[in-house]
Amino acid sequence: MLEKLAERVYYMPPYGETDRPTLGLISGDNFSLIVDSGNSPAHAKDFLKQVDQVDNKTPRIVAITHWHWDHIFGIQTMDLPTISHEETKKIVDYLKTLKWDDASLDARVETGEEIEFCRDMIKREMPTRNHLELKSPDIAFTNKIEIDLGGITCVIEHVGGGHAQDSSIIYIPEEKIMFLGDCIYQDFYSGDWSYDLNEFITLVDKIKKYDVHIYLTGHQNPQTREEMFEFFDEIIRLGTIVGKEVNLDKAITTFIEKEKAEPSVEQHEYIENFINGNKKKR
Ligand SMILES: [Zn+2]
Repeated sequence: MLEKLAERVYYMPPYGETDRPTLGLISGDNFSLIVDSGNSPAHAKDFLKQVDQVDNKTPRIVAITHWHWDHIFGIQTMDLPTISHEETKKIVDYLKTLKWDDASLDARVETGEEIEFCRDMIKREMPTRNHLELKSPDIAFTNKIEIDLGGITCVIEHVGGGHAQDSSIIYIPEEKIMFLGDCIYQDFYSGDWSYDLNEFITLVDKIKKYDVHIYLTGHQNPQTREEMFEFFDEIIRLGTIVGKEVNLDKAITTFIEKEKAEPSVEQHEYIENFINGNKKKR
């Protein structure tokens, strides 16, 4: 069964073993909107089966948060009108021209176009990929689009950010719920996982414009406003401590001087993310 977040808002929790992201359902009187298409035909089918149990009357559309494989590989299987930011559509148009068999994936990891993590997860979710067919979104928007589903609304806004420049959020004003996709996560497609402080602050400003009670991210459980704001503050605080430093040991020393404590494993990782970001800028 889908998890129910509000009267007309449901989600399917993420599954880390094969990197299945959170999928959402906003059920209107005239239309329902599905958030992201899943990371495989099987994921898309599993989700649609569960959608049928809570919402079987209305026509459906799909909205895509960003171009990463785990959010778009189910578009073809869902077989519904699909909407995305214009940049997302452009990238999926390109991904359609690629081959997804083991040899092709391995070759792209060699050249750095694909990353090991995604290749391994793609293989785990779909041991063979003969059945995999990519489809591009049908409808593209530029900045922001509002969809009246009948009794409930979805505002889709492009917010960008380091994780994927095409990232969009999906906001449901009636319920004060926001689907963030992966936009708050690190950039992991250009070398070592990284954060950029200015980019992150710009992103958080865009997210905070909306009045939200519950946030859904692509790969975590739902989070309250307090939990999410605490995370934003922590990331910005760590990024500020790192500053323009490119040496990890020096940044850790600064942290210990300021905090009078060793960083936790998580904090250490975020500090390293900012160091990696600074190195890329040089
Ligand atoms: Zn992603």
